[in-house]
Amino acid sequence: MTSSRSTAAVVSDPRVCTACPLLCDDVVVTATGVTQACDAGVAAFEASDMEVGTTSLVDGAAMLREAAIDRAAAMITTARQVLVTGLADASLEAITTACDLAEAVGAAIDAGGSEMSQASGPTIARAGEVTAEWEELRDRADLVIFWFCDPAATHPRFIERFVAPPTAAGIPRHTIAIGTEPVLPASPTHRHVALPIAAAVDAARLIEALTTGIGGGPLCICDEAVVSGAKAVAAAIVTAGCVAIVTRRGADPLGLGPWSTARLVRAIAHTKPAFEIPLAGGIDDGANLAGAAAVSTWRYGAAGAIAQAARGGGAFLPAECDAIRLIDRNEVDCVVAVGRLPPAIEAAIARRTAALGLVRVAPADPMRTDAARPTIHLGCRSLLASRSGTLLRGDGRRVVLGPDSAADSDSMTAILAALLAGVQARLAARGGGT
Ligand code: SF4
Repeated sequence: MTSSRSTAAVVSDPRVCTACPLLCDDVVVTATGVTQACDAGVAAFEASDMEVGTTSLVDGAAMLREAAIDRAAAMITTARQVLVTGLADASLEAITTACDLAEAVGAAIDAGGSEMSQASGPTIARAGEVTAEWEELRDRADLVIFWFCDPAATHPRFIERFVAPPTAAGIPRHTIAIGTEPVLPASPTHRHVALPIAAAVDAARLIEALTTGIGGGPLCICDEAVVSGAKAVAAAIVTAGCVAIVTRRGADPLGLGPWSTARLVRAIAHTKPAFEIPLAGGIDDGANLAGAAAVSTWRYGAAGAIAQAARGGGAFLPAECDAIRLIDRNEVDCVVAVGRLPPAIEAAIARRTAALGLVRVAPADPMRTDAARPTIHLGCRSLLASRSGTLLRGDGRRVVLGPDSAADSDSMTAILAALLAGVQARLAARGGGT
């Protein structure tokens, strides 16, 4: 998409869009508009043009940043239990500093990834999963199966960038959408197998049985639509040279769906090149959910739902200590929100009636009101405006926006570092901290 643009701040080199986990690095911003970006990306660039300063607010009233940081440090250190969340709209450097802050006060930490609210967490699905970078799909897969997901809704340019181009060898690519959404218009190279999400596990088990010849038992327990759909998909897999199955993690309370597709991919991979492309997060969840999960895993051994952050590890309690449950169950009385929050976490905060203090370290958002609770907003520059820091694309590829300079006092990292120093000073003053 191309937008018209009236800003005086014009940069013409390719830019990285940080509006979703695709982190498109081919966006061109000129005096006349933003080209290459999707509608959401254009809107993000236009919003970054409108960023005006990094005002700090305490209960809606402007306050000098140093004083606001001191008030925030007081709120955090006097809380009974703190939750550090958000994180997916922050650089790796900012996330790391947020982890230091969480450890200083023994906070719970969770970025809000959907797998953390599943009873199995990512454990069942990740056991032996076979995945690949998105470019491998683009270059190698002659069969792409959209498995009960529609990337256009969550990762707007995924199909344009990684599915629409020809394979590296020029082999024609076929696609199948299995699920409720057709994903692409019907064509000689695209087929829609319409099935409800409730049939996903049965379909995966059936296709596995049909393509491997092992475990035919499930054939007798499925209805006809599932059987015929599974047969069509299995037939396409048998004739393909390289198979990519694009999945969407989330919306499965137990995690059996991810387990069944990981198993299916592993079974196919025994006979031909095959891999899963799990699309975690999305346009509502922040650009760096993969980075938040990675930092949490490096520090605490799990991607989120950490009951108490500690350098030696942290208790991993999926579906128990995910951000939404902690807020809903009144188990935290202070939330440190780092960057934009996913809508589900904002909704959990909004429906919380018991006392809850809120410290936001985020760019200003004129659409949001925090009038219902004590709130300290430490304004910082967005990733798009600052162009600094390192992110992980949804498939784990490292993307460097620019050096994360401590000299930029308006950066999220610098403000988190100042908040950490304030917290440590208060803890030291009362003899209980580092
Ligand atoms: S697909 Fe995502 S990263 Fe790419 S331009 Fe759109 S919003 Fe930005």
